[in-house]
Amino acid sequence: MAFSGWGRYPTLESRLFEPVSASEIEASLGSSEPWGTPVIARGAGRSYGDSALAETLISTRYLDNFFSLTTSASGHTVLRCASGMSLENVLETIIPQGLFLPVLPGTKAVTIGGAIAADVHGKNHHIDGSFCDHVESIRILLATGEVIDCHRGSNAELFHATCGGMGLTGIILDAAIKLTPLSSLDIAQRSLVAGNLQECMDLMDEHNDAKYSVAWIDCLARGATQGRSVLYLGEHVDEQDAREKSKPGRTGLRAIQRSELNIPFDAPSLLLNKYTMAGFNSAYYALQKNRSAPKRITYDAFFFPLERLRNWNRLYGAKGFLQYQLALPQESAHAGISAILSCASQAGKGSFLSVLKKFGKANSNLLSFPIEGYTLALDFKYEASLFPLLEQLDTLVLDHGGRLYLAKDARMSKECFRQSYGQWERFAELRQKFDPQGHFSSLQSRRLGLG
Ligand SMILES: Cc1cc2nc3c(=O)[nH]c(=O)nc-3n(C[C@H](O)[C@H](O)[C@H](O)COP(=O)(O)OP(=O)(O)OC[C@H]3O[C@@H](n4cnc5c(N)ncnc54)[C@H](O)[C@@H]3O)c2cc1C
Repeated sequence: MAFSGWGRYPTLESRLFEPVSASEIEASLGSSEPWGTPVIARGAGRSYGDSALAETLISTRYLDNFFSLTTSASGHTVLRCASGMSLENVLETIIPQGLFLPVLPGTKAVTIGGAIAADVHGKNHHIDGSFCDHVESIRILLATGEVIDCHRGSNAELFHATCGGMGLTGIILDAAIKLTPLSSLDIAQRSLVAGNLQECMDLMDEHNDAKYSVAWIDCLARGATQGRSVLYLGEHVDEQDAREKSKPGRTGLRAIQRSELNIPFDAPSLLLNKYTMAGFNSAYYALQKNRSAPKRITYDAFFFPLERLRNWNRLYGAKGFLQYQLALPQESAHAGISAILSCASQAGKGSFLSVLKKFGKANSNLLSFPIEGYTLALDFKYEASLFPLLEQLDTLVLDHGGRLYLAKDARMSKECFRQSYGQWERFAELRQKFDPQGHFSSLQSRRLGLG
């Protein structure tokens, strides 16, 4: 069967192994199956490129049990669950208890295993760091069949290689994650309009204490208006009745599920050209500019605006699309992003969804993406002429001291990876130690020279 990531590029014929328990995977390690070919764990397949692609895929679909909610010595509530549990199911379980996940990516379809393996970030990285900063411990199944419990105080090197390690150290079986109290299901959202990139970054700095912050950028505006954008700031509404509101039938979750739309077929790719992109970007900017009044919206609408359009990846046509997400350090971010936007718009390549976020400090995980500064994500329709442009963008990213996000990547070169991920050699040594025969290997890891 052919598999792909969310971007639908590339695809690979793979065998799918869907164990119903951790012991079923452990047992299979003793046999020749499934190790005849490279193997990689697969969660919900929401990474964009080829990180969850290999000749044999071990799906965590049925490893989705909720285990417990306990209170730790420091007074935090800790969730323990199997790695295949989706963030959506986690939220449905913890919200009625007045609890929330401290970090949420732009989709709730991802699994706990996928969130840890990519060390995902949300709209609050500048305040709360990334997902793994809230992970207390994980249990990981190594290629040898051994199950190792690891956390910052024990087997720390395996912990820091696995958090953000894109499934290359083994299969995360389950995890313990610190939760945060929830004051309300609603978010108070403010939107601020910025006339150009500098204004947007200044607004982000000025509102650095806002809990959530994300900007949509008109990636095709040029000259003095380059980078004009709408910055969305959010705070949890402070109210006492969060539990009451989360009772069945009253949650935002349900309201959103009812209003979900589906894209039933691949959009003709001719619909997506520089003229429709420019038209969309200008119209969106003009519309949002006049809608800047503060409003109260459900957390679903705030965190997962795209989920209302199921299969929205089909809008990019049958050949799919690539998301190019980069991070640049604070000091070079403005120059770098400006050069990248100019280069893409001169090439006539635009993106409907161009998103800018601020990153706080990096953590100690060897391959985690965030570095202190800014991150920009651009979506590009797949076409052969895109690849030379992306190589030009890679050069700009490297020249400005940045890196690309592995969870979105489908084509970065080994050289680019090595220049930008300073701890790659340490990661490769640990992989050699924990998986000397390189059983766990994805299309991406081979492309990046990690074997
Ligand atoms: C609409 C959309 C919005 C997004 N927004 C954000 C965002 O805001 N921030 C962000 O950081 N990311 C974002 N992402 C990316 C997404 O969060 C990550 O790619 C995440 O890793 C996907 O999780 P998954 O369960 O789908 O994993 P998959 O895509 O199936 O796998 C991703 C990687 O995790 C590994 N993996 C999965 N499960 C396990 C396991 N149990 N053990 C070991 N390794 C495992 C795989 O081998 C692979 O390397 C977004 C994606 C989409 C589609």
